[in-house]
Amino acid sequence: MRWHKRADKLRVDEKEAATGSVPLCLVAGCDLGGTIQCSYVDRRQRQCSTHWCSTHVQIVDGRSCCRRHAGVLRAIGNEPDAAQSLPDLENRAPSLVNWVGSHVDANLRSLLSRYSIADARVVGSWTRPVGSPSRRTWARHWKALSNAGIDLTISLEVSEAEDTIVSACVDEEKVITVEPPWITARQHGLELTKEQDATARSYFYTDLVEALEAKLKARASNTGLPIPA
Ligand SMILES: [Zn+2]
Ligand SMILES: [Zn+2]
Repeated sequence: MRWHKRADKLRVDEKEAATGSVPLCLVAGCDLGGTIQCSYVDRRQRQCSTHWCSTHVQIVDGRSCCRRHAGVLRAIGNEPDAAQSLPDLENRAPSLVNWVGSHVDANLRSLLSRYSIADARVVGSWTRPVGSPSRRTWARHWKALSNAGIDLTISLEVSEAEDTIVSACVDEEKVITVEPPWITARQHGLELTKEQDATARSYFYTDLVEALEAKLKARASNTGLPIPA
């Protein structure tokens, strides 16, 4: 009961804050005050300047964060050298690989179950850092596991050095390297309509999955495995 009272009080404070000098919470359509600042501090000791209300702030290990940095902290926060190696504030590598991976998760699982041996079990990973902090890539892996070990791996990768480019790999071999259309549009100052944006996104995801499937088909015919319909 007491907790409810506290939460109500907080919301009243946020309502008041929203009419004062406090900026609004950054979630579109939220009219509460952004009274909580993201606590993420990068390796150059710069703190994220975004502000959120108590509903939309994310909590990771007791720390308040924006959505992007919550993902980074969940992936890397407990590693021994985390404080020295947290990516620059504006680096989009972890969030981009996570975003694209979430969109094609079902497609990649389906590819793996169709192109791996019959009894394989398909598993997917969270976004993880790979490599040393100075040359780091963020990756998500999907694997088909059989009793004999890993039968097939698909991964998506974005490097911190080139954080606009997504690579998709089969068994660690790069199959396609592309820049998502919403990033290209933003970098060229192009204003896409909702429909254009949706079409471009759908082509991007289709191209990615089709390139992986073409590679898997070639792999199956090289190894004499049956090619699924
Ligand atoms: Zn909010
Ligand atoms: Zn942040």
